[in-house]
Amino acid sequence: MSRLYNLEQNNMQVRKPILTLPQEVAERIAAGEVIERPVSVVKELVENALDAGARDVRVEIRGGGLRLMRVTDDGMGMFADELERACARHATSKINSVEDLYRLHTLGFRGEALASIAAVAELTLLSRAIETESEEQPAALLLIRGGEVIERGKRARLHGTTVTVRDLFYNVPARLKFMRGARTENGHIVQLLRRYAIGYPGVRFNLTIEEYPVLQTSGTGDVALALAELYHLPLAEMLNAVNIETSEGFVLHGYVGNRALAQSNRQHVMLFVNNRWVQSRPLQEALEAGYRSLLPKGKHPLLVFHLQLPSEEIDVNVHPTKTEVRLQREAEVVTLLTGAVRSVLERSPALPESAQFPGPELVYQRHLPGPRRRGLHVAESAEGYKAEAAQPGTAEVLHSLRPLAQLQQAVILAEAPDGSLYLIDQHRAHERVIYEHLRKTYMGVETREQQTEEEEQNAANLLLEPVMLELKRHEAELFEQRLPALRGLGLECERFGGRSFLIRSVPVSIGEDTQQLVGHLQELAQIAAEDSSDWEDHLLIGLACRSAMRRGRELGPDEQRSLITALANTSAPAACPHGSPILLHYSRAFLIDRFDW
Ligand code: ADP
Ligand code: MG
Repeated sequence: MSRLYNLEQNNMQVRKPILTLPQEVAERIAAGEVIERPVSVVKELVENALDAGARDVRVEIRGGGLRLMRVTDDGMGMFADELERACARHATSKINSVEDLYRLHTLGFRGEALASIAAVAELTLLSRAIETESEEQPAALLLIRGGEVIERGKRARLHGTTVTVRDLFYNVPARLKFMRGARTENGHIVQLLRRYAIGYPGVRFNLTIEEYPVLQTSGTGDVALALAELYHLPLAEMLNAVNIETSEGFVLHGYVGNRALAQSNRQHVMLFVNNRWVQSRPLQEALEAGYRSLLPKGKHPLLVFHLQLPSEEIDVNVHPTKTEVRLQREAEVVTLLTGAVRSVLERSPALPESAQFPGPELVYQRHLPGPRRRGLHVAESAEGYKAEAAQPGTAEVLHSLRPLAQLQQAVILAEAPDGSLYLIDQHRAHERVIYEHLRKTYMGVETREQQTEEEEQNAANLLLEPVMLELKRHEAELFEQRLPALRGLGLECERFGGRSFLIRSVPVSIGEDTQQLVGHLQELAQIAAEDSSDWEDHLLIGLACRSAMRRGRELGPDEQRSLITALANTSAPAACPHGSPILLHYSRAFLIDRFDW
């Protein structure tokens, strides 16, 4: 047998010449490192938005991310002639020397994300640089598919960037095969967004999956508030603040949840080093060492730490996804982290092993049917709000509720005849009531219940001082065309020359306080000038939200009762028009179980 024959038998050992890979192959391999699955794309796009100074980041997902992922920001944007360069490999505005690697202040720096995405998906960039805002220049559009520019164009938008990624992995069938179901991919994306919302509490985040709002934060800068918004829990009393500044120049801020919040997975243990979420092994172990002996075996706390250290002490260039880091003074940091966790948990009183942490499942469950939790759960899923009628029983139950008290001037507590407890978010309840009232009054959409008592015509509430608004040019055109429709909604407006409009009236008797609504007319006008087919519904939702009573308003027993009755008469009393829950229900079984009666 000849040697050659042997070689040919085994494919791997046939001698072949050494060639440089064709660019397309090299691109695909490099892209594979950065873009492993849909969530990797979302991560890169959100980081780019944050690096661009965005205060508002919106993420839209369809088909588990494979069909569409879109990230819209209000950051500094890009100039038209930069779009193509942004999509080239190793093209970045964030560093330009090796030294820069050691004084990073941005999340990105490798200049490969957009290039990688363009190699494995259809990529559309729409961006307008903040500098062009005053010059009436439109935003620039670039569409790349299979690495080739398919379209260049112009569109209207405010400053900032919208990146749309379609058909991920359409040209990488092997990757596509490894994708889990949409539910799994969505789960990863929710988790990721939750981390950024906590890491960047000053930024407003909004995530919709298949057009359902899944996550929303208000971007006030308060980490504890962001946590409460994400987990829909009254967390204030369950969080212990940590604020440490060491003589070594480390600053550590954050929260450790008390024992009652302990979870059986590590998902809620989050460490940010210089604003970057990191996953490095030694640091994770440091945290774990702090709580191991203080929590039941296999339990992990809700923990959020922000650690700041001099940027030259951290090396981020360890892994393409940049979640691993090396620290110069790792041992000191480890001691700091372990000590911080331990000292909090040592003080935290032992609470009865109770509350399963309903947060993420609760938020998520509203949109994707899953197993119901025992006891505490959202009384009705948000899907109900799409349905014509409420789930049988909900309206009846609401009618039979006896209000007990108001909690934090925000939530009505009420007892049902069967002895179970309902919590009702007053703002959302009112929002739902107003929204349906508006639909009925102004759009002739009948709701399940006839509210015939207050037969109102399309009455409008004349403003003593008309409000002047200034719209962008592209908005002004649409807005003008819609003036008759707006009049039908009770919004009497007229053009005041150029791009200015006067609003003379608002819909009558929808909220408490006309002034509250007047303060939001500019935003509402922008919704009314949206280039979309369901602008009217968006506008009604906007009107309802901005005129509904706020949390923080005290309600007497009669007001509590009438709000509950009005809510009972709506078609979807369990979810506000945005899809967030209005009702929480603690069943009698829950009380029996937890009190061990
Ligand atoms: P990197 O973030 O590592 O620089 P990317 O491929 O993610 O690399 O982006 C390339 C460049 O495109 C960035 O350096 C930035 O200048 C620009 N860019 C990308 N996304 C945005 C955005 N959302 N807003 C403004 N500029 C952006
Ligand atoms: Mg980037």
